[in-house]
Amino acid sequence: MKVDDSLLIGKGILKRTPVYHGKLTKTGQHVAVKKMFSGIFDYKKALDLKALKHPNIIRCFAVEEKGDFLYLALELCDKTLVDSIEKGDFLNKVVPSRQDCLLQVTEAVEYLHNKRVCHGDIKPANILVTFADGAGIRRFVLADINISKKEPDKTFSSKNRVIGDIGWLPKESYQPYLEVDPSWDIFSLGCVFYYVLVNMKHPFGDANNLEECQKNIQCGKVAVLKAEDFVKFSNLKSLISSMVDHSPDKRPCIGKVHEIIMRVFT
Ligand code: ADP
Ligand code: MG
Repeated sequence: MKVDDSLLIGKGILKRTPVYHGKLTKTGQHVAVKKMFSGIFDYKKALDLKALKHPNIIRCFAVEEKGDFLYLALELCDKTLVDSIEKGDFLNKVVPSRQDCLLQVTEAVEYLHNKRVCHGDIKPANILVTFADGAGIRRFVLADINISKKEPDKTFSSKNRVIGDIGWLPKESYQPYLEVDPSWDIFSLGCVFYYVLVNMKHPFGDANNLEECQKNIQCGKVAVLKAEDFVKFSNLKSLISSMVDHSPDKRPCIGKVHEIIMRVFT
């Protein structure tokens, strides 16, 4: 792959990972190249990422190792969900509907969980929107997958523990040594659902003040989901309430979430 490190297209808030513009050597296809320190993201993880193939999961086309770094050639997307909502893309119908967004992200998470992979950092900044599809199809794509993968005999492995950004992960994820669990993704997904449906609101406070949301999550404050926020999607209020429950056992599994979403939207 060819990397143009003068063309930075993004940078993570927490890990500060640079993402550059690049091209695949053989085909010349434009890609996003994420440069990662191999101490954080090793070659095996990268190959696991490359093996994931789903329309709503970021595609990894190639992996190269140079010195202490890994370069991941990723499907080039256009913007994050945060940028998209801020620009009013849903209101102006630039992107598919909010329903499509929820459904596509749910399908991405279901695909991962069926493969015994936990995302561990689901949040609007890690959901990308792509217009750059050959068929002109606009899609929502779950990105920044740190492959928290299972060993064959185990569901999820503790050594793959990931700490995501504040404000989107459940209370228990901050307990040291606790294994990453699919129920964490369900909690984050519930917060994202609310954020999408009610235009950038967060169930635990002001979405522009994630420290406050985090404090509320950590002290076990019950999510405030106002009925008026669910005028169009009243059937989703109880689903989202259960997804963002502080008790992991009360959160539905991804299959159940998918089933309810399908029933509500079709
Ligand atoms: P980090 O692990 O540091 O959070 P991300 O994978 O989330 O890294 O990437 C950081 C930012 O770079 C994203 O929020 C987005 O703005 C941009 N970005 C990442 N991957 C792509 C991509 N495939 N296409 C376009 N932009 C991307
Ligand atoms: Mg990220």
